[in-house]
Amino acid sequence: MQTLILTHATLAAMDPSGPWLLSDAAIVLKADRILWSGPMADLPPEHREAESRPLDGRLVTPALIDAHTHIVHAGHRAGEFEARLEGASYEEIARAGGGILSTVRATRAASEDDLVAQALPRVDALLAEGVGTLEVKSGYGLDHDTELRMLRAARRIGEERPVTVRTSFLGAHAVPPEFKGHPDAYLDEVCLPALRAAHSEGLVDAVDGFCEGIAFTPGQIARLFDEARALGLPVKLHAEQLSHLGGAQLAARHGALSADHLEYATDDDAKAMAASGTVATLLPGAFYTLKERQAPPVAAFRDQGVPMVVATDCNPGSSPLSSLLLAMNMACTLFGLTVQESWLGATAHAARALGLSDRGSIAPGQRADLALWDAESPAELVYRLGQRPLHARIHGGQWCRS
Ligand SMILES: [Zn+2]
Repeated sequence: MQTLILTHATLAAMDPSGPWLLSDAAIVLKADRILWSGPMADLPPEHREAESRPLDGRLVTPALIDAHTHIVHAGHRAGEFEARLEGASYEEIARAGGGILSTVRATRAASEDDLVAQALPRVDALLAEGVGTLEVKSGYGLDHDTELRMLRAARRIGEERPVTVRTSFLGAHAVPPEFKGHPDAYLDEVCLPALRAAHSEGLVDAVDGFCEGIAFTPGQIARLFDEARALGLPVKLHAEQLSHLGGAQLAARHGALSADHLEYATDDDAKAMAASGTVATLLPGAFYTLKERQAPPVAAFRDQGVPMVVATDCNPGSSPLSSLLLAMNMACTLFGLTVQESWLGATAHAARALGLSDRGSIAPGQRADLALWDAESPAELVYRLGQRPLHARIHGGQWCRS
């Protein structure tokens, strides 16, 4: 395989062992891997004759990783957005058939092709701002066939676009209307059998749940996690978003990859997560859309050394957001993250949230997943809203149009 050298780059490697920013850097790629990176002056002699591409000082970062999305879904809820602004209450909207159940109805009615076709414009928006790895959840089917169809649609995205897709089974997202008031029966009769079937088809990379008063109790989530362990699948959890139910500690006890949202998490939760190596995924798009007041305990995560992740939570209700750069800006402006924390949250730490150790930083042996920017510094990309100064993206060593 041919070796390619990117020269005269401004490198933000997201590698804690190196400098934050390195000017006049070179990156050596071979096939789908990074062979070497560092100052141009230190380029090993054996690489000096290889084909080179000068980047004229452009910023190079790892390709971004969006570690929490519900990007596969049918329809939209713009009508509800409009009705709420005109004074309708959540209850009135729910009574009129709105809310998550309207997305469930639309998703159940959609074919696999429809789901892929509707998701791709949102996926393309993410790729156009440098995303190279994307997590996609099920959870709008809440029946056996639709949950599996959503996961198949998610896998298809990774075949139709140059992006790595990681799937999470989220059958425990909500209790469907046909099981209203009977969450345990839903778990036993639909959710757990669907998980086993999806796993046997190779459709599941992780198992997720929604631990909240309006969804499932810690005890019910524990049953889901026990099943995941029996199948050898890692877990993650929507926890402490609207209230404090003990989801973060539960996630930590089960060695979860991540606990997500966490607005109502406490110092003790942060300690438990640090001890178990569970990362904190912050989702400022939902906080913004729901006009929440309580921000997640960022200072506690910092004090305890819990890595923080920033993701879009792209979904049709609480976070209709297909911009990871905007999520990073929101994490800084609304939650008080530093620019560096927001970048690590969308690269190196996001890789941890997906259980991936081969990406998220620029270092020898890592996948050649890079974003090349018409920008001078990482701060510039977080600071400006609505601009996508992506020059090019490299995915597994291949140059992509977006
Ligand atoms: Zn979510």
